[in-house]
Parts: sequence; C-alpha cells; structure tokens
Amino acid sequence: MITILNRCHRFRGFVYQHARFGTDKKSIEVAVRPRKGSAAVCSRCHLPAPGYDQLVERRFEFIPLWGFWSSCCTPQRRVDCRRCGVVVVEEVPWGDGKRTLTKAYMPFLAPWARRLSWKETAEAFRTSWDKVFDAVEHVVTWGLEHRTLGQIDAIGVDESQYSKGHKFLTLVYQIDLGVTRLLWVGKERTIESFQGFFTTIGEEVTSKIVFICSDMWGPYLKVIREKCSEALHILDRFHIVAKMNKALDEVRAGESRRMASEFRTPLLKKSRWLLLKREERSSASACAISSATT
Ligand SMILES: [Zn+2]
Repeated sequence: MITILNRCHRFRGFVYQHARFGTDKKSIEVAVRPRKGSAAVCSRCHLPAPGYDQLVERRFEFIPLWGFWSSCCTPQRRVDCRRCGVVVVEEVPWGDGKRTLTKAYMPFLAPWARRLSWKETAEAFRTSWDKVFDAVEHVVTWGLEHRTLGQIDAIGVDESQYSKGHKFLTLVYQIDLGVTRLLWVGKERTIESFQGFFTTIGEEVTSKIVFICSDMWGPYLKVIREKCSEALHILDRFHIVAKMNKALDEVRAGESRRMASEFRTPLLKKSRWLLLKREERSSASACAISSATT
C-alpha cells in the first residue's frame, strides 16, 4: 500500500508512516507525517515559516482502494508567519484549503458527478453530497483558471428554468464549427445578468464575435444590440414562426370582419389551415379562396 502511494502520490516534506484497516474493517487509513527537519508552509503566502504548535489530526478522503473507503490523516501544524503577521494552519500539498478531500480524489470524483446525479455519486463512493459539490467546485475553478477563450466567432444565448416557479438561468454557449462549449452561466435572465457575460469575456473577444443566436426575449435583444451591433443576429425559428402565425391570424380575422360588414361571403372563416399549408400541397379549394380574396 505504501509502495503504491509512494509511486503515485509523493508529497514533498511528508512521508507515509503506515496504512491500516479502520476499526470498522471497511476503510483504510493512511497516516502521513512531516519529514524530519522539513519546515511547514504558510497557507497565506505559500512560503516556509517557523512552526508554532500542532493541532489534532485532520483527515482527508482519498480515492477508494479496492472499494475500501480510504483516508489519509495527519497532525496539522500551525505556523507563526512573520511575513503575514499571523498564526495560521500550514498548507499541505495534498489538500485545498478547508476542503476535506485530497487533490487527487477531487478530479477522480467530479467526472462521476457528470455521469450520475450528485446524490448517486455520493452514495456510490460512500461520501456526502457536500463533498461531491466540493469536488465539482474545485475542478470547475481549476478549469476556469486554466481556460483559454481564444477567438469566438459564434455564440448562442438561452434561458433555462430551474426549481419551482419562475427561476431562470442565462446560459451562453460557443457554437463555432468544431468548438461547442458552455462558456458562461448567470443567474436570472435580465439585462444585468447577460451583461455579466460580456464583462467576463472582455471587449476584445466581444468585438470579434461574428454571429449571435438567441430567442426573442427582450433583455437579450437589447444587450446584443448594445454589445454586438456589428454581429449578425440570428433569431430562433420557433419564435419567428409563432409571431408570423399570430400576425396571419390577426389579418385573417380582420379581413373576415371587413368582408362580413360589406355583406360579402366570409370566405376567410375556417380557412386557417389552408392558408398555412405550403403552396404545392394546397388543394383546389385553397386556390379558390386565395384567388377570391386577392
Ligand atoms: Zn505567510
């Protein structure tokens, strides 16, 4: 066990002391100790600092081995850092701040949270929903810090409803040929929330956007007009067809009323579907109506 850990996860300034089964016989505990003479590192400035005292043992969850819940535990030292002027807990190379999962475990767990629900992931690996959240948050933060935006030619914006009631998120995707990825998520679907996307990507990337796809939600249209007036704005087909059908209905009803008031046969009544049909599929009766009304 120690040989495997030394091969896969060696930490500077620390050694694996021993590995043994927990009292429940369903878990493995690995004890990690500071290497003799190695200085602790300040968790604020990330530099070695003089020791102050030692706290109780802290446990970090590790990737399960052979289905055994695994953890490494270590006594945490505190340092008296003169640069930062405070007494703080040391930084450990396998941990990430206050999270209790090891840095090795989080990228292991997070991809499972994409395949399964977070609850199922927690159950499968005998951990908690909060820890799955920690793993996802850690991986997403890392991903955002290391993301290169590059040139973005085309974006699509859409809203997504969540929870009960009218709660919305604004989602922005890159939809270039060969690069389709979620770029940004914002709360609500307001002008302010969508503006947040353009603030994140900055003016230079914004100015190079060539195509934007969206629905006809007012706040989105307004922000697109302001931020990307040069880009070609493509509206979604569903809303265009819906608006066109509505306009057609209004014209038809109006004409029908007018014809009735002039004591003419209200030919346009009950003719909605005939008017919506494609010309090549139209029957003789539709042609008759269209010729009678023109
Ligand atoms: Zn410091």
